[in-house]
Amino acid sequence: MSERVIVVSNRVPTEEVPSGGLVVALHDCLSARGGLWLGAHPEPSEDADGGLVELPGGDGYEKAAFRLTPEEYEDYYLGYANSVLWPLCHRRTDLIALDRRYAEAYERVNRRVARHLAEMLTPDDLIWIHDYHFLPLARYLRELGVTNRIGFFLHIPFPALGDVTALPEREALHDWVVAFDVFGVQTRADVARGLEMFRAHQAGELMLDGRVKFRGDTVDIRSFPIGIDVEAFAGAAQAGGGRRLAGLGEYEDLVIGVDRLDYSKGIPNRVTAFGQYLDRLGPDSRRATLLQIAPPSRSSVTAYQEITRQLEYLAGSLNGDHAELDWTPIRYIHRGVPRDTLARLYRAARVGMVTPLADGMNLVAKEYVAAQDPEDPGVLILSATAGAAESMTDALIVNAYDTLEMAEALERALSMPLAERQDRHRRLLTTVRETHIAGWSQNFLSCLRQAEPAMPRVAMAG
Ligand code: ADP
Repeated sequence: MSERVIVVSNRVPTEEVPSGGLVVALHDCLSARGGLWLGAHPEPSEDADGGLVELPGGDGYEKAAFRLTPEEYEDYYLGYANSVLWPLCHRRTDLIALDRRYAEAYERVNRRVARHLAEMLTPDDLIWIHDYHFLPLARYLRELGVTNRIGFFLHIPFPALGDVTALPEREALHDWVVAFDVFGVQTRADVARGLEMFRAHQAGELMLDGRVKFRGDTVDIRSFPIGIDVEAFAGAAQAGGGRRLAGLGEYEDLVIGVDRLDYSKGIPNRVTAFGQYLDRLGPDSRRATLLQIAPPSRSSVTAYQEITRQLEYLAGSLNGDHAELDWTPIRYIHRGVPRDTLARLYRAARVGMVTPLADGMNLVAKEYVAAQDPEDPGVLILSATAGAAESMTDALIVNAYDTLEMAEALERALSMPLAERQDRHRRLLTTVRETHIAGWSQNFLSCLRQAEPAMPRVAMAG
């Protein structure tokens, strides 16, 4: 029987022609091999225990969705996934909202997905599970007797050892992780944190081949840095005209920030740094305008409402201090922008500011580099706390907590000589090309295919 790939991710793209690097990469890999893409249905329903719902649009593969009840959407998705695991992994244990119902819903939903999957599997299927919504899924599949190879990719940072202590399910987290054959993460630093968690446990062992052993199970924790479709982005950027789109004056430089409005993205610090940069400007300096595009996300979670208010207040007060009749130094757009428009804006920006406080990888950093004109490229300012900083060392690397350092980096970026900009950009582009998204899924799957098969966990009847 030929190999099928079964992808599980929270969101299944419903559009006929998918866009976005990751979605396209997974779509291509499923179209080539056949298989199934399973995710949460976008509309909660009281009848969540029924079967899977078929979704239209797979090209040579199937798409299906499991249902969540409205309570499960609150408790599993907004609750455990986004108010416990998200802050835990992004070093914000102060924001963790613990509630027993959240953990119960997380377990219930994952067990339901495991049952759906177990019913449809054939022995050669490769299972590839994505992200923090499904950490226990392999454990529950193994409990149902599934011995297929199961891989996982964590798109966000692996939590720091000290932070894991804040998770009531910290002991179970070890069992969840080790039930996968391959546990993929974004960076070497994530691998180190993953290994550290097991080293710190008395039942954890590091094997000579680098795998982790824990109570009879083994897992390979490895980094697979994710990338973008470089040519697609560069192509879209070449349409140009970004300065006109942004309505820039002749003597105005553009600094761009593009992020979901999330507390992990460090947007208030960036805006403060921009204010400090403005404070240091002489009266005859060229004007720089910060365009911050930040569409809302998870806006029913309190921490997200707070960051929205904080940003509105900051941008408003800095503009009050610095604006002129014909110039608004900070422009804040609280909605999404089409990708082609983004690409053109990136190309028009003298500086890309990507300064998250914590981030698995950060694709905006790679998109900004891919969109530049190699003859006259802009400068990337990147915080050391973005996963992308591990390889993109030719950016101006800054500390996202140190606003003055970021203001100084802005000064340096905006006055950087052409030769240095070209040099840095050439090296950055080479790095970005090395992690092209098309190779990423192939690398992961070939590593998963080579994993040793799991031993059966339940006694067979008879
Ligand atoms: P995260 O997955 O945490 O949101 P990434 O930087 O890794 O962060 O990926 C964000 C993706 O969303 C990028 O591809 C980026 O282009 C896109 N994006 C972010 N903000 C916007 C926006 N305002 N409009 C359109 N796309 C956006």
